[in-house]
Amino acid sequence: MTTHPDRYGFYGKFGGAYIPEMLYANVEFLQQHYQQIIDSESFRKEFEYLLKDYAGRETPLYFAARLSEKYGASIYLKREDLCHTGAHKVNNTIGQILLASRLGKKRIIAETGAGQHGVATATVCALKGLECIVYMGETDMKRQALNVARMEMLGAKVMPATSGSKTLKDATNEAIRDWINHPEDTYYLIGSVVGPHPYPDMVAQFQSVISREIRQQLKEKTGSELPDYVIACVGGGSNAAGAFYHFLEDEDVKLVAVEAAGNGIESGESAATTQLGRIGILHGSKSLVMQTADGQVVEPYSISAGLDYPGIGPLHAHLFDTGRGIFLNATDKEALDAAFELARLEGIIPALESAHAVAALKKIKLKKEDKVVVNLSGRGDKDMATYLKYLPKQNG
Ligand SMILES: *Cc1c(COP(=O)(O)O)cnc(C)c1O
Repeated sequence: MTTHPDRYGFYGKFGGAYIPEMLYANVEFLQQHYQQIIDSESFRKEFEYLLKDYAGRETPLYFAARLSEKYGASIYLKREDLCHTGAHKVNNTIGQILLASRLGKKRIIAETGAGQHGVATATVCALKGLECIVYMGETDMKRQALNVARMEMLGAKVMPATSGSKTLKDATNEAIRDWINHPEDTYYLIGSVVGPHPYPDMVAQFQSVISREIRQQLKEKTGSELPDYVIACVGGGSNAAGAFYHFLEDEDVKLVAVEAAGNGIESGESAATTQLGRIGILHGSKSLVMQTADGQVVEPYSISAGLDYPGIGPLHAHLFDTGRGIFLNATDKEALDAAFELARLEGIIPALESAHAVAALKKIKLKKEDKVVVNLSGRGDKDMATYLKYLPKQNG
């Protein structure tokens, strides 16, 4: 298992670039130049600097003593929740905004579902003084009014997508339409390891700082760089890709990806793509996609807006296909229970997405000597309205 896709952007059967002809020139240019730019001295310096002084890296690898006692293994939490803006997403948006400026782009577009990627994009656009347009489903804008306000305060223009179900996939269509109409001056900033090649590889590289730090930190704490398990939740798959990246070739490290089962795999209200999806094309790449018999994309469901995505990045489809990744899933209920447990045991309120990764601890047969890293992708402040609904029940 290698970290890079082939030159056409394929990880095994998955990946590639399936895009309208109008975008060929743009995407091809990106494919030919991204690696050279990312590897350049000036890029690396500025990226490292902003990750440290702006995003607040490195993030701690915290030994969770009470959680460890409860589950009978050594459990470490990688604290991406402590990043600026509250999640791992800023690692990627910093990387891409530096790339966009080096390409001379003046106008940044993005789409967002829950608004988290929109906020992370608006943040770095403000940082670099670039115009920012974020497409968001009209339904999502109502549901996530706070994030709309954050984006606007940061200077972004939030454009409602009013077609279809008025959610993420409609916002994606709008963003791609915009890109086709402005291929010259506009950079499309994608928020996960999805999209046409080279986005999945590029985003994975920007997020790989997570596993680079885990290796060093684990070495300092335990004498070995290698844990037995790395566990991360998967929406599109960027925090998981970052947490797995530098362990992909270490076959002894079990890589556990946790999808959102929503109300249960069989319930018709789920977002567990590897369990329910088939090979198809979504968002410009070939991967596993939740779809009807005639290929219509199915509206996914999860209590956590960040995992509510009908596909999965091609790297993860490949990890699933080859068996290198262990794919589990957690229901809404299991994620809520895990969030309340983590809050009470460790004083950390996780994002609902991250709570799915924590919930997987119950599904793995752990041994006392096991070292387990759970990637805590984000903090739970944004989810307090949801947690509040369940709080009285938890108190009994
Ligand atoms: C967006 C988000 C996710 C899901 O995105 P991935 O690309 O799968 O990482 C997970 N956790 C948090 C906190 C998020 O904001």
